[in-house]
Amino acid sequence: MIVMKFGGTSVQDAAAIRKVIEIVRSRLDERPLVVVSAFARVTRLLVEATSSLEQEALLEAARKRHFGVCGELLSGELLARTEAQVEEILTGISGCHDEPTVISAGELMSSTIVSAAFNQAGIPCKWLDARKMVLTTGDRMSGRPDLEKTAAAVRAAASFDGLMLTQGFIATSSDGLASVLGFEGSDYSAAIFGMSLGASRVEIWTDVDGIRTADPRVVSDTCRIPRVSYDEAAEMARLGARVLHPMTIYPARMKNIPIQVLNTSNPSCEGSCVAAEVSDGPKSVALLTIRDSKEIGSKALAGENAGMSLVSVIGRNMGEREMDVMAAFGTPEVSPLSISVTVDAAAAGEIANQIHKKIFL
Ligand code: ADP
Ligand code: ASP
Ligand code: MG
Repeated sequence: MIVMKFGGTSVQDAAAIRKVIEIVRSRLDERPLVVVSAFARVTRLLVEATSSLEQEALLEAARKRHFGVCGELLSGELLARTEAQVEEILTGISGCHDEPTVISAGELMSSTIVSAAFNQAGIPCKWLDARKMVLTTGDRMSGRPDLEKTAAAVRAAASFDGLMLTQGFIATSSDGLASVLGFEGSDYSAAIFGMSLGASRVEIWTDVDGIRTADPRVVSDTCRIPRVSYDEAAEMARLGARVLHPMTIYPARMKNIPIQVLNTSNPSCEGSCVAAEVSDGPKSVALLTIRDSKEIGSKALAGENAGMSLVSVIGRNMGEREMDVMAAFGTPEVSPLSISVTVDAAAAGEIANQIHKKIFL
């Protein structure tokens, strides 16, 4: 079996969900477990709704958006039943100010609608409750899954023969309360489900053609990297490239499960495969990550370098050339997998572009 995780933009509206259905349809013989995030921007709205005096208005906006998608994808009895389920989820959090409980509603609503859309499209789909499978300890906003208990619960629940669909991100804490795996945690959920079920592959469907040499929102002309090692992907995620949540690698690596990063809007592109072995091509490959150091959370950086940005290149065959390029922009710090220079925040985007050009073009 395989796990297919679709992020927020991949389920942001009816047109996107239709693409998801066709992609999953093409892989039904591999017995997928589908994992969905909340619709794009919904988690953010629910975070706001947790503490806002305008909670009712915010939840009403969420209701409108989800009902709009229901109306486009569903009809008849299925439409009425699904809208009633969405209504029930929203009524359940109305007046609630417990953050993990309120934000869990995003994934509950999206998964309810996407599951109904599969049924409407003639693909029988069983909805599974991730809160009964992913069991965490620690802080309820960034819960740490107990992998042994979770794996047992996943195996017990996921016994359906046909298509199964569940939520990323959401879980239950050891005291039985709502918990989540930290923002962007759906990738991590997908890897945990894959590990628990011994999946042959975990697919992360998103809005870019796989893992690229830099964040395409920061650097123009990036290139797709077809194969990335677990170490490289972990380092890259640690430095802030949000294409994969930093924890995703660990459960996959435990069972040696490859992670394929794919584009929902361009499914014929092969994307990137994250796996143990990487056959090195003749050309050196590097990943460029840029991030405001204020967000990194390291005390050292937050102190004297606050307001600066960190530009990192992660390299496979890092040689003199990358070092020389980086040195041209500051004093590089070198680790086995990456070279970093810290630069002024205002110039960071431009410098990332220049470094990228010099190394790759
Ligand atoms: P999803 O909602 O599907 O989880 P995210 O927005 O979390 O999607 O992750 C995809 C985004 O990650 C891309 O749109 C891109 O801007 C960003 N990103 C950052 N670094 C990279 C990189 N090296 N390669 C590809 N995408 C990257
Ligand atoms: N919806 C959650 C978030 O936005 C989890 C995810 O999409 O990965 O953080
Ligand atoms: Mg993400």
